Amino acid sequence: MSVSTPKRQGVSKAKPSDKPLKDDVKFQQNCEPSDSLSASLSRYMNNGLGQEEYAQHDLFHALASSVKELMLDKWRQTRAKDCQYQTKQVAYLSLEFLMGRALGNALLNLQLTDESREALSQYAVDLESLESLEQDAGLGNGGLGRLAACFLDSCASLDIAVTGYGIRYEYGMFAQRIVDGYQVEGPDRWLKDGNPWEVRVPNHNVTVPFFGHTESYIDKQGRRHVTWVDTQDVKAVAYDMPIPGYRNGRINTLRLWKSEATDDFDLTEFNQGDYTEAVARKNLAEQITMVLYPNDASENGKELRLRQQYFLSSASLQDLLNNWVKQNGTDFSDFAKANVMQLNDTHPSVAVPELMRLLVDHYALEWDQAWKITTNIMAYTNHTLLPEALERWPVRMFEQMLPRVLEIIYEINGRYLEDVAHHWPGDGDMLAKMSIIEEGSEPHVRMAYLAIVASFSVNGVAGLHTQLLTSGLFKDFYELWPEKFNNKTNGVTPRRWLAHCNPRLAALLTKRLGDQWVGDLQHLHSLSAFTEDKALINEWREVKLANKRELSLMIAKECGVEFNPEMMFDVQVKRIHEYKRQLLNILHVIHLYHEILQGNTDGLVPRCVLIGGKAAPGYSMAKLLIKLASNVAHMVNSDPQITPYLRFAFLPNYNVTAMEKICPATDLSQQISTAGKEASGTGNMKFMMNGALTIGTLDGANIEMLEEVGEENFFLFGLNANQVHSLQEDYQASQFINDSPALKQVMKLLESGHFNLLEPGIFDPIIESIKSPSDPWMTAADFESYRQAQLRAASAYQDPENWTKMSIRNTACSGRFSSDVTIAAYRDEIWKA
Ligand SMILES: *Cc1c(COP(=O)(O)O)cnc(C)c1O
Repeated sequence: MSVSTPKRQGVSKAKPSDKPLKDDVKFQQNCEPSDSLSASLSRYMNNGLGQEEYAQHDLFHALASSVKELMLDKWRQTRAKDCQYQTKQVAYLSLEFLMGRALGNALLNLQLTDESREALSQYAVDLESLESLEQDAGLGNGGLGRLAACFLDSCASLDIAVTGYGIRYEYGMFAQRIVDGYQVEGPDRWLKDGNPWEVRVPNHNVTVPFFGHTESYIDKQGRRHVTWVDTQDVKAVAYDMPIPGYRNGRINTLRLWKSEATDDFDLTEFNQGDYTEAVARKNLAEQITMVLYPNDASENGKELRLRQQYFLSSASLQDLLNNWVKQNGTDFSDFAKANVMQLNDTHPSVAVPELMRLLVDHYALEWDQAWKITTNIMAYTNHTLLPEALERWPVRMFEQMLPRVLEIIYEINGRYLEDVAHHWPGDGDMLAKMSIIEEGSEPHVRMAYLAIVASFSVNGVAGLHTQLLTSGLFKDFYELWPEKFNNKTNGVTPRRWLAHCNPRLAALLTKRLGDQWVGDLQHLHSLSAFTEDKALINEWREVKLANKRELSLMIAKECGVEFNPEMMFDVQVKRIHEYKRQLLNILHVIHLYHEILQGNTDGLVPRCVLIGGKAAPGYSMAKLLIKLASNVAHMVNSDPQITPYLRFAFLPNYNVTAMEKICPATDLSQQISTAGKEASGTGNMKFMMNGALTIGTLDGANIEMLEEVGEENFFLFGLNANQVHSLQEDYQASQFINDSPALKQVMKLLESGHFNLLEPGIFDPIIESIKSPSDPWMTAADFESYRQAQLRAASAYQDPENWTKMSIRNTACSGRFSSDVTIAAYRDEIWKA
């Protein structure tokens, strides 16, 4: 694709600017080349080889590079100010940052959207089509990685000095295609055309050691020292991405590490003439940051994953310490006053022994002083109660790969177990139960315990989640250290998830309320006063309809299914996992399908059901659910008796960019996990902000959403967490199936092979799981209550005016779920920044 050259004249002669100077002045006070966006864009375009025609892609790169250039000055100023340590520095460590696209968000925060449109006008290209050329930075799996991305936006917007530390994966989250109803994974080479936002900063290189062994000696003062020798070192190279705050001039940094072979190690090998060996080793070093592990909410037991974790932790800590030493020398007595480190789940928790190692081995601090610093710096966020997600690494793996780190873990454990023995005198079982080392034929390091022991703060991510942590999984730790535990309910950034992704609604809100809501979402509360306003109701409905039309185009293109914008849009998009219960949704679609076949269409509300999400490549049950959804969709959409009432699509390759189109167009948001299993959820909040109504269980942040919006504006169903827990004892799925004629009928259809005539038996594992007395997700138990809630939703939808009022109320009450609120609480209660 290409676009024409500027109409009037060559780009080089484009007039720099004849528009309001507001932004220019703000951003160029101290900038040497006083350059407008338009002039900078022309310069970039003229530096390319294009003569008559420019590829749109070049134009995207030129615009992104220009925007980055405009940020450089503020970026430097932010850094200069922060490294004076006037305020506490926060390091947010995460193996995942699910950033999505950066252009639209940056323009919004920098107030450069209008100027960009104008600069582009001479190229006869609109901003939206350029934005659509940007690759998603898909450096995460789902909620956990997206949370990190929302937090970065809020930290910058709240003017907090936070650096995100992560890994610059060459391959991000895999691309999903659906072939014959099955998921097929493809590589995500997001860097293939270059990343215009990143800056390689080689002066921040550090070296991370692996393998080798330890040696110890006693110095003249009689003190024992340990050295870690014969290591295979890997170079960590920093790539920085700018994180602009909303209209405040702050530019924070996301620092992503890339692994490379060290130069000196190449040299020795080269000198020995072993060229091929040296090149092969180089590959080994570069492997570390090659690919993101695509597992959401389950453990990644692979050695390479531990290498990634240590690589990130060590590089980031060395960076922090280097910065400190540069400013303050090697006196660390105030280091913990100036720094705090938030661990996004246990993934980077090897940072605990690594900080001890650096302080004790490299800077020769006494153990006690180093421990005091470590325990004043570390804060840990837990993200899940699912046992299969709790990280444990074989001691054997540590022994080989990180021998010195293991010694330090042992030392931490020994000292900590003295505290345990003191608290529970004579209780040997307690020692074994709470030890960081899990004994057995294959001993393991319990990473969550390591994180709790060293952290001054341990938080869950929603009220129920934190309550279940302190009464269940971490009960003993809560008894030992109640003061460490706290809740921080998740949130999502209103810049990306309302202002940017839903321009129609954003314009309507701003027309009514002014634009303060973008920086403070609690302003939306004032909408509640207008729920009876007929004009607002009509405009609100028009906005939703227009958004639904837009999504329909995408569904038609991606799925070949026609969604009718007049029908209810009923949506469930998230990672595919049994606990999230896409199955319950599919069973309900089958139920509706059967009702329509039977001619029971009285009072039936026509609806379009959308499911989307990726399954971990090794998770066969999740992949089978995609196949079931695809097959059911095929039966539904190809039957003209059905389609006036029901359409069903599985959307391939769900990602941040897809969600930006989906949540503004959704009427009904499905948040239907088994109670007690979803830590918080954040998709639920994006939908609520955009005026969707929720059908959901009492799980995660749904509970708090319900509290805000009221039961009358929420379709609640299902067992609560306590009921799930007590029913677990003797669960009788068959009882629930027998007691529900609707579910019985659905099971009959499924078991008859109606949806898999050419592939007999393929859905047996799903059928068995529903009927199993040990089904941990209790799908059968919640079906009838879910069906009733769906009936209530349908009946509410039949009164468009009232539905719209409920929709307005949902948006109005979503202010509490801005990540600005969450981050303000992290700042005040954990970071003290
Ligand atoms: C918000 C988001 C998630 C998290 O969704 P949940 O429904 O909370 O699991 C996952 N993936 C993407 C792309 C998202 O934008």
